[in-house]
Amino acid sequence: MMQQYMETKKEYKDCILFYRLGDFYEMFFDDALTASKELEITLTGKNCGLEERAPMCGVPYHAVDSYLSRLVEKGYKVAICEQVEDPKQAKGIVKREVIRIVTPGTNIDSMTRDETKNNYIMSIVYDAGRYGISIADVSTGDYFVTETDSESKLFDEIYKFSPSEIICNEALYVSGIQLEDLKNRMHVAISSLDAWYFDEELCKKALKEHFQVASLESLGIADYDCGVTASGALLQYLIETQKTSLAHLTKLTTYSTGKYMVLDSFTRRNLELCETLREKQKRGSLLWVLDKTKTAMGARLLRKYVEQPLIDKEEITKRLDAVEELLKEAISREEIREYLSSVYDLERLVGRISYQSANPRDLTAFKASLSMLPHIRTILGDMKSPLLQKLYDDIDPLEDLCSLVENAIIDDPPMAMKEGGIIRDGYHEEVDRLRKAKTDGKTWLAELEQKEREKTGIKNLRIKYNKVFGYYLEVTNSFKNMVPDYYTRKQTLTNAERYIIPELKELEDLILGAEDKLYALEYELYCDVRNRIADEIVRIQTTARAVAAVDAFASLALVAERNHYVRPKINEKGTIDIKDGRHPVVEKMIPNHMFIANDTYLDDKKNRVAIITGPNMAGKSTYMRQTALIVLMAQIGSFVPASQANIGLVDRIFTRVGASDDLASGQSTFMVEMTEVANILRNATSKSLLILDEIGRGTSTFDGLSIAWAVVEHISNARLLGAKTLFATHYHELTELEGKIDSVNNYCIAVKEKGDDIVFLRKIVKGGADRSYGIQVAKLAGVPETVITRAKEISEELSDADITTRVREMSVQGQETKAKEKPKKMDVVDMAQMSLFDTVSDNDVIEEIKGMDISRMTPMDAMNTLYQLQNKL
Ligand code: ADP
Repeated sequence: MMQQYMETKKEYKDCILFYRLGDFYEMFFDDALTASKELEITLTGKNCGLEERAPMCGVPYHAVDSYLSRLVEKGYKVAICEQVEDPKQAKGIVKREVIRIVTPGTNIDSMTRDETKNNYIMSIVYDAGRYGISIADVSTGDYFVTETDSESKLFDEIYKFSPSEIICNEALYVSGIQLEDLKNRMHVAISSLDAWYFDEELCKKALKEHFQVASLESLGIADYDCGVTASGALLQYLIETQKTSLAHLTKLTTYSTGKYMVLDSFTRRNLELCETLREKQKRGSLLWVLDKTKTAMGARLLRKYVEQPLIDKEEITKRLDAVEELLKEAISREEIREYLSSVYDLERLVGRISYQSANPRDLTAFKASLSMLPHIRTILGDMKSPLLQKLYDDIDPLEDLCSLVENAIIDDPPMAMKEGGIIRDGYHEEVDRLRKAKTDGKTWLAELEQKEREKTGIKNLRIKYNKVFGYYLEVTNSFKNMVPDYYTRKQTLTNAERYIIPELKELEDLILGAEDKLYALEYELYCDVRNRIADEIVRIQTTARAVAAVDAFASLALVAERNHYVRPKINEKGTIDIKDGRHPVVEKMIPNHMFIANDTYLDDKKNRVAIITGPNMAGKSTYMRQTALIVLMAQIGSFVPASQANIGLVDRIFTRVGASDDLASGQSTFMVEMTEVANILRNATSKSLLILDEIGRGTSTFDGLSIAWAVVEHISNARLLGAKTLFATHYHELTELEGKIDSVNNYCIAVKEKGDDIVFLRKIVKGGADRSYGIQVAKLAGVPETVITRAKEISEELSDADITTRVREMSVQGQETKAKEKPKKMDVVDMAQMSLFDTVSDNDVIEEIKGMDISRMTPMDAMNTLYQLQNKL
């Protein structure tokens, strides 16, 4: 046996091998050491012909799923090696084979995983500067492919799908991509596979065979190159590991990375789209507010919508129409939702049917779900919006499959497939006949028992059954002397004797024969039903996806109704005009509708950048995030928390909020902040929305202010970037930019002074805050009075009037400045123009230098003056 083990293990070196021995899966050697540690199970040893005992540990077969999932979640691959012949019939050692390899991205155990989330596996192929990306969820049959030539887009896709496993070619490792970083950050298992997986010809062949097509054109991927290898390699990997039918991967969906709004990982986390920043839980996220779906597949689809907002006006409008209709038709919607409550996870059921792991109860759940479809479809039939009509068309009532299961499978079947009690009476003649023999047999036994009691006079004589002897007659010791001669003794117990008689054995043959045959036949018929369902996978999947969409839209409509959202108008002019906007999550957290609504207005002209000042805790981040979330919700196709909203489509949202959250990566806070700023400035476009909170906080005031200033100059300049931006800052000096750059405007969040204290009004108003009220906020937070008093004294001494005056005099670079408020000193544009017409003599410069009082200049002053002098030459 150990030899057989070693041979098997040789082929699955990178996996933990679960080796079936009777009722256990055993692990040996290093696998045992790893598993016993990870699973906290006892490590024992086994004599195996070597000098030392082999380390060994095991898990019982009936509880294997949870152990397996725990290992897989930790990133291990587990190969399951089963006995593939009946041990009773085996000559010598029982034949065993690895029947499946479970990996993080292919774990289909629904008990241990969140079923409202997809479990994706991603394949990435790097070739000559391009990335092929393919993604699949084996539990639902989703299968996608795309290509990109940009590393940052690749990362966008990784963050969007958040796969639990990535497979890639060796070249990706060599390409210098930060895979280790990704591993730590996202807890994703990454492995590079052997080269043959990525062999172009093998990949094409695998795809063509799987989809049964003659050419890649019919799959729509003829123009792809590394996309073909990515999806081909993924398919081959799935075939290698799953070792079973992948028939539910019915189509390979191509998509372009440009179809969706781009959200990088910082932004996803900062906006708390699907989970909160700190607790990493759904409660408190946008999805938590939006998700009132009734089915797991609806929940998964809604999550996908939230993770991939659209950028196409027409598509968004279609979704909004659907939500609006379901909002207006509230009674129909609630009726649909009622029916949806009884719909099981059809997508995953199909996965299990195709994996042949669906048990009889799955089939009755499937039937119950199907019986809801005609009702849902009828209600949808009355809907007018194009999207709902399409969903109506896509839902196939699948009545044939419903009646197939109804006729074949009893109402409340067991989970086990091979112990009978599955097939309905009247479905199959032979089943009925065998069943009768079985029940009749029971009556015959009772009759025989009675007859023997009368014949022998033994009152407590019983016919019993066990697996070793089959049926026998049991007589207690007190009646032993009354046992007749024709009884053959089989076994002696302390207080009873067990016998058999020929008549009993005849009956036994009849009964057990019937039972064995019955169970085998029921199993066969059951598999036949399951296979017939498997033949209709495409119809079921199309229906399941449509049902999921109905569920998602009904949820959005219900949420809109309950929370008083409005339908946003969508424009392509780039104007974002929100009246009385609210933060969808914070408003839920604050009791009694105390949330204060605020307007937002941004456009591509005079209102590109809003500089927002106001004390800590005033509500700056809430306000900025609310704007981002309202835009994002609109682009999902959801109604929004506002009294009116007109949303100019944005291609990306970037956020830089808070500096303290990424310490885990080992970089300094300031470095992290600047890396993010760099990322934003490099990748944002004029159609992007930027949410920047406290840029430049992690360094000295001068540096911080200078960086913040330069960033605003860059962003607001249409020739350089020109992105719509909300910029919160504690550098009040930045409000000076309003006077210098046309598209920059100041806002602040109002507070009221009440003696020594402040009251937060939470209302955004035009203009800049002149004070930061830091000391008042510190007092509110409970900093001791002595410290507060001392802080006030220091603050008075350290008036920052100096720096403000100097900043007032600063020039801005490369901008159309406001005519009426021209800075006192000449700015660079003017200077450039001047130099074309005037010649400044070097003497003037020398005179100027001579006239300077250097001892009274600050370094910043000196730098500015030097800069200006240089420009004059
Ligand atoms: P800042 O970014 O200015 O430090 P936050 O945006 O973090 O302030 O807001 C602080 C707290 O104020 C929030 O946690 C929230 O409870 C409350 N808050 C913010 N905005 C509003 C609002 N518009 N209405 C009611 N409460 C608000």
